[in-house]
Amino acid sequence: MEFHPPEPAAASFSPVRIALKLDIVVIGAGQAGLSSAYHLKKLGLPGETGFVVLDEAPGPGGAWQFRWPSLTLSTVNRIHDLPGMSFADAIGGGAEKVEAAVAVPRYFDAYEKAFDLPVRRPVAAKVVCERGGRLGVETDRGLLSARGIINATGTWDRPYIPDYPGAARFEGRQLHTRDYRTAAEFAGKHVLVVGGGISAIQLLDEISRVTRTTWVTRRPPDFREGPFDQEAGRAAVKLVEDRVRAGLPPGSVVSITGLPLSPAIQAARDRGVLERLPMFAEITEHGVRWADGTTLDVDVILWCTGFRSSLDHLAPLQLREPGGGITMTGRLATQVARDPRIHLVGYGPSASTIGANRAGAAAARELMAHLDLLA
Ligand SMILES: Cc1cc2nc3c(=O)[nH]c(=O)nc-3n(C[C@H](O)[C@H](O)[C@H](O)COP(=O)(O)OP(=O)(O)OC[C@H]3O[C@@H](n4cnc5c(N)ncnc54)[C@H](O)[C@@H]3O)c2cc1C
Repeated sequence: MEFHPPEPAAASFSPVRIALKLDIVVIGAGQAGLSSAYHLKKLGLPGETGFVVLDEAPGPGGAWQFRWPSLTLSTVNRIHDLPGMSFADAIGGGAEKVEAAVAVPRYFDAYEKAFDLPVRRPVAAKVVCERGGRLGVETDRGLLSARGIINATGTWDRPYIPDYPGAARFEGRQLHTRDYRTAAEFAGKHVLVVGGGISAIQLLDEISRVTRTTWVTRRPPDFREGPFDQEAGRAAVKLVEDRVRAGLPPGSVVSITGLPLSPAIQAARDRGVLERLPMFAEITEHGVRWADGTTLDVDVILWCTGFRSSLDHLAPLQLREPGGGITMTGRLATQVARDPRIHLVGYGPSASTIGANRAGAAAARELMAHLDLLA
């Protein structure tokens, strides 16, 4: 079976400079935004006049459309169905080898059409601020005004690279997971992979098949034997939920769940690829240096150091606590305590495809209730 990415939809936001008054604006059309939109509609809020979904990406698929080609449906953890439509039915069976960057956009495209969701793209929300008792959403295509916001902007736009002395003088290549495409481009080079998450391990596994790799992490990896069952999943989510309810930054998922010792990871371990070194102290012209003076020359530093939430456009609303976190409340901790008109979906405990699904339902209902929009 052949899969083709959907054609980018033409933006129908014209004329450019208009002020549209809506009840709710959803920002982001990934799993979290689409789930929210589905539930808003199901609860009776009309698309176009009651709410729109803004998405800055060129086509459907959320961040999945940008993932590297070797991430296939058999190598992702698991992509949960959006509410009301099965992934398998939408893309057909036997698709394990299909790139996630092709299959998920195809699924989301079918989903948006099937439920007639009012997605506008490409439209980037640049700033959200107070405007005459409502929320002004300044976009690159014009100004919108809303009574409430469901923010579902994910993390892909905020790759995180920690600061290490000397980074600017390194003469080799530095890149982040986000920029990775294929292992073949590193053939013949010595690649230093930084980071202790699943992406680091998957890329190490791939790159080590074509060239020499070295792995560094801040903490020794916590390989978890045995299944990660529903109870363990719930416990991990609860820990993140407790943090955001207390106004703390969500924290890294791997620090809570550990690394599942899957057959692929076990095989990489058996090949000796997962022998890890502690973090270096500084970056040199040709590599890295540890605190004890040991040096290592490398050609490439691949930072698999994760992402932060894309929330800069909400800065004028001053949602953050002095410590940098946002205090969350509501049934599934999607509502911002400082401003109940704002829900964050796909943030903290809902930063997974299954979490985003549930959070979208909770956010839609709670925000509509708060704005007195429930029939
Ligand atoms: C490599 C990788 C693999 C993963 N694998 C899995 C997995 O197997 N299973 C799983 O459950 N989770 C996985 N995750 C986590 C996964 O990405 C999330 O669970 C989920 O897909 C995120 O959905 P989202 O809607 O929150 O964000 P996204 O999919 O990132 O969607 C956000 C959307 O918002 C848009 N946007 C951003 N900013 C703006 C703006 N200012 N204005 C307008 N639009 C904007 C973006 O263009 C994008 O379309 C993985 C993450 C990574 C990085």
